[in-house]
Amino acid sequence: MPKIAVFPGSFDPITVGHVDLVNRALPLFDKVMVAVGVNSQKQTLYSLDQRLEWINAVFAHEKKVEVSFFEGLTAHYCTKIGAKYLLRGLRNASDFDYEKTISQLNAIVGDGLETMFLISQPAYSHISSTIVREIIKGGGDASPFLPPQIRIG
Ligand code: ADP
Repeated sequence: MPKIAVFPGSFDPITVGHVDLVNRALPLFDKVMVAVGVNSQKQTLYSLDQRLEWINAVFAHEKKVEVSFFEGLTAHYCTKIGAKYLLRGLRNASDFDYEKTISQLNAIVGDGLETMFLISQPAYSHISSTIVREIIKGGGDASPFLPPQIRIG
């Protein structure tokens, strides 16, 4: 059985923090599925197609990475594709508080689904898609926070 981890998120847009997390997880798994969670109630800055295109471009040469999207519960998506692990990043204490509850729920809903947490590297712990969106909306240069494959503006 291949060891598959799902890295779920909005990736609106994908940042260098996300990319670092995936790269660090690659030695641990046979496959990392970067999966965009689609929530029709949630307004995003970038379309699903645009977000998927960027993620695909970033990992185009990484054979162990696949890119996809899902609707509904993350745990159900993991069951559907045979993934026994979730990958999440922890930047600070508020990430921890939020992620702890979600991972405990996912272990129940996902029938033993394990969440693997990687602590953000110090160089990336201040980076979030929310901050990047604010910089872009304000007309600033977000390129220090974005993978080189993403060009905005
Ligand atoms: P969500 O909408 O689920 O919060 P995000 O796209 O914002 O999705 O984040 C997906 C995952 O990436 C989360 O586990 C988050 O903690 C992690 N992450 C985001 N930015 C960073 C970063 N700079 N360093 C490490 N992990 C990060």
